[in-house]
Amino acid sequence: MRKDMLRKYLCYNEQVRVVIVDATNMISELRDLHNMSNVATAAVGRTLIVSTMMASMLKNSSDRITVQIKGNGPIGNIVVCGDKSLKMKAYASNPQVDVPKKENGKLNVSKVVGQGYLNVVKDIGLKDPYIGVCELVSSEIAEDFAYYFATSEQIPSAVFLGVNFSKENNVQKASGYIIEPLPEASDEIISTLEKINSNIDSVTNLMIDLENIDDVVKTITGDNNVVCVQEEYPILKCDCNKERIYKTIIALGRKEVDRILDDNNDKMEICCHFCNKKYNLYRDEIKKLFN
Ligand SMILES: [Zn+2]
Repeated sequence: MRKDMLRKYLCYNEQVRVVIVDATNMISELRDLHNMSNVATAAVGRTLIVSTMMASMLKNSSDRITVQIKGNGPIGNIVVCGDKSLKMKAYASNPQVDVPKKENGKLNVSKVVGQGYLNVVKDIGLKDPYIGVCELVSSEIAEDFAYYFATSEQIPSAVFLGVNFSKENNVQKASGYIIEPLPEASDEIISTLEKINSNIDSVTNLMIDLENIDDVVKTITGDNNVVCVQEEYPILKCDCNKERIYKTIIALGRKEVDRILDDNNDKMEICCHFCNKKYNLYRDEIKKLFN
């Protein structure tokens, strides 16, 4: 299978920036890992696709991003984390949730997400992380992030995200792009971009039809001289380890931990939400943590 790929482009003589990603393998793996329904795969997948593009915009190799969608719908919380090297991880509280499709046959992502807000935390090596919060405007994810970029980061952008399924119910294509007109972009270019993108129905269909990513970027921008300036390979990879698990245990507090140990024969099993790896810890080990 072809590797997942993220590319950055400059278009219209550096007046427009485009980030585009094919995340089909990542979303397919994620779905298998958490045994996700199609609609949950679409909701978490779209969030993972946009978060991967946001991670690629981080500046330093140690920078990290966490994106949370906190809606009141049945999927519960969606959490995605990643770093500058595009090692990504994701989960949802209720990955098997299912709801009927919309009347137009599309997966009802807004229904499983519900109303609420999205939360972005960027750990960029400063004492306090950058935190951006905004309300969900459609709960279909792409529009919500376009709104977030415009209001929290003051970067007006068009955001397109999609996860397609084959007849056999496999993830056929998962992809997305962000178009950002830079401050020097002319009104004419902006209106061309708006015109083209208001007619794009599905980014995944476009990626399937136009195998070549350069051609996709030409189509979505209307510029035939697009320049690819960067290519990276995102992967789904959890970075959990015992140290992180220890921190979680400490955060639970001594009292709660003692109660769990008493109920479970001096043993505690902690499962990583992101990769389902199980960690077994015993009373003696935990005792040391609190000393
Ligand atoms: Zn893990």
